[in-house]
Amino acid sequence: MTENADDIAERKMQFLFALRSRGVTNTRVLEAMEKVDRGRFVRGHFAARAYEDMPLPIACGQTISQPSVVGLMTQALDTSPRDKVLEVGTGSGYQAAILSHLARRVYTVDRHRRLVSEASTIFRELDLTNITTQLSDGSFGLPDQAPFDRILVTAAAEDAPGPLLAQLKIGGIMVLPVGQSDAVQSLIRVTRSETGFDYEELLPVRFVPLLEGLGRDV
Ligand code: SAH
Repeated sequence: MTENADDIAERKMQFLFALRSRGVTNTRVLEAMEKVDRGRFVRGHFAARAYEDMPLPIACGQTISQPSVVGLMTQALDTSPRDKVLEVGTGSGYQAAILSHLARRVYTVDRHRRLVSEASTIFRELDLTNITTQLSDGSFGLPDQAPFDRILVTAAAEDAPGPLLAQLKIGGIMVLPVGQSDAVQSLIRVTRSETGFDYEELLPVRFVPLLEGLGRDV
């Protein structure tokens, strides 16, 4: 079945409606999410479900996050057009593509070579030239490019990793899922002030774990 322009417009409207009804209300975030076609980041028979508000499997046993969670995280990050952003956990590349419309420069890292390489190809095809991808263990951040205005972690750790806190500018914001187990995690926002870090709990979430070292496909 081929889609016509009306079907595509209808699908887009439903997608944006679902985001709004789950609390994604920031206009810049909604505009960025309207520009990025999630269908480009999902492969095989799951591609048909790309516009539904659910996480989906991608390569290397990982997942592309649920669109409303991507929206809420992006909203909490409060990115401005001058920002240099680090994303830990490239995965499919979907989140980084959205950030690329909201920030000056996006660095995104993943521990799986295949994910980094497939996401880079999509960024090139979409002409998203302000994204730099790198294969690395993101729990150590990206010291060469630090400090960052914003840091977004899309895999769950027990606590905010020290090197990432250290690479956040004063006034900077980091959004990440934290939790002791796979089942119970909270999305938190950490804001760095002159004197320390403020922590704010946002919502319960479920992410794949932040793992040490590089993935086995290397
Ligand atoms: N943001 C992604 C979804 C991420 S899934 C998207 O938009 O599709 C979480 C990703 O974090 C996985 O791809 C996993 O390989 C990666 N990851 C887990 N631990 C990591 C680490 N220590 N360093 C870098 N990436 C890591």
